[in-house]
Amino acid sequence: MSSDCLFCRIIAGELPSAQVYADDAVVAIRDISPQAPTHILLLSRKHVASVRELGAADHELIGKIIAVGTELAAREGIAEEGYRLVVNVGRNGGQTVDHLHVHMLGGRGMNWPPG
Ligand code: AMP
Ligand code: ZN
Repeated sequence: MSSDCLFCRIIAGELPSAQVYADDAVVAIRDISPQAPTHILLLSRKHVASVRELGAADHELIGKIIAVGTELAAREGIAEEGYRLVVNVGRNGGQTVDHLHVHMLGGRGMNWPPG
């Protein structure tokens, strides 16, 4: 837990969020500024600044995050139509919160290439 980290504070319950899932490794919340009809953030419960900081011991963690994203897409009723899992990494990647998270977006058609 990093007391100056937004997502650590949300996970700790110090800041409000619309939580849709939690287990011992992953917490999922609705994005405060949704970019699609469904926009969920899959947060690592453990503070890791970005995927660049992941070690070999964290490979199970990132697999778990993706599995939860897939489960929540089904629960949201968007799995059949398709959805997008996104990890922004660093400044050029568009990362604004330095705590490991994967975006799960769906409910509309997505463009490629992304902006
Ligand atoms: P990224 O730009 O990949 O680091 O993603 C950070 C995401 O966190 C953005 O999509 C923001 O809209 C979202 N966000 C920022 N503050 C909050 C908050 N308090 N609750 C939920 N989502 C947030
Ligand atoms: Zn954190």
